[in-house]
Amino acid sequence: MTFSLAIVGRPNVGKSTLFNRLVGKRLALVDDQPGVTRDLREGDARLADLRFTVIDTAGLEDATDDSLQGRMRRLTERAVDMADICLFMIDARVGVTPVDEIFAEILRKRAKHVILAANKGEGSAADAGVLEAWGLGLGEPIRLSAEHGEGMNDLYVQLLPLS
Ligand code: GDP
Ligand code: MG
Repeated sequence: MTFSLAIVGRPNVGKSTLFNRLVGKRLALVDDQPGVTRDLREGDARLADLRFTVIDTAGLEDATDDSLQGRMRRLTERAVDMADICLFMIDARVGVTPVDEIFAEILRKRAKHVILAANKGEGSAADAGVLEAWGLGLGEPIRLSAEHGEGMNDLYVQLLPLS
């Protein structure tokens, strides 16, 4: 049986970097239809012997602060409803932000399964942020470095029983 995993979180935490790593090839951000935001991207992911569908949420990057919250909520809710599992990503070097807290609240109420990932976890600059992530009430954070491929084993261990 296969499953789908949606990667959610505020802009710039590293969602697309993880998506690209799981899908294994760079996907061009095609924006050939003016006015159409390609805000959910699907790909076929591989992680060791696991095969699943991964969904990247984008389209928030160009939002102003005013429009961010509503768009974020709608997009996140769509992704959550589509997916069997949500991977909620924060930036461990920044720590937990008020926007992260809003995501966490949506996920606690709505998602079937949540995996919490503290990304940009390479190096000691991430230590405090990883600890802070426990306070989101979403269980043990996985310390990831999507860019360097660290923590993928811990991601596997959390996905395996849900697969
Ligand atoms: P998204 O907006 O959440 O999709 O974030 P992106 O995947 O576009 O990444 C935002 C920025 O963070 C880019 O400059 C990435 O190279 C960088 N980034 C992503 N993952 C990591 C990581 O594990 N460590 C570090 N140091 N930078 C990362
Ligand atoms: Mg992105």
